[in-house]
Amino acid sequence: MDFDDLIIDLVRKAEPDLDARLENQAEALKELECTNPVLGRWIDEYDVEYLIAAFKLDDDEFSSNFPEMGHLNQHDRSQIIEAFETHFDQCPHCYLKRGYDLEMNARIERVYRLNNAEVMQHLQASRVTRPKPEVVAAVADAANDAAQAAAAKRARK
Ligand SMILES: [Zn+2]
Repeated sequence: MDFDDLIIDLVRKAEPDLDARLENQAEALKELECTNPVLGRWIDEYDVEYLIAAFKLDDDEFSSNFPEMGHLNQHDRSQIIEAFETHFDQCPHCYLKRGYDLEMNARIERVYRLNNAEVMQHLQASRVTRPKPEVVAAVADAANDAAQAAAAKRARK
């Protein structure tokens, strides 16, 4: 089991209704149309906290993490963050998505705290030393995938 699977597994164990809730969230998000699909595509794809944190990296870190956007300097990126923030205030879809992300992150953090010993043991065993935001984002991605798959499945019925 890799590290992301371990965390998802722990979250599921702590919250047996996780999948049903993610499915409901995906449904609720589908009901609300994003007012700016260019920004909305990013917001739907990434965990919002992770996204904002990524755009706040310094130039070197940003261009090494996102080489395809390496031409964006710190000023450009702070304007993009402002555009995101304004969008959250104006777009019901993305406002809701951010709320779901914050809620999910709070749950993951709680699972971390409750299962600290198990998580640490696994980290030592596998010598995984990835920074936490990436893990959180990976879990959020996996959760989004699960929610999207569930929504797609329902849509096909
Ligand atoms: Zn939006």
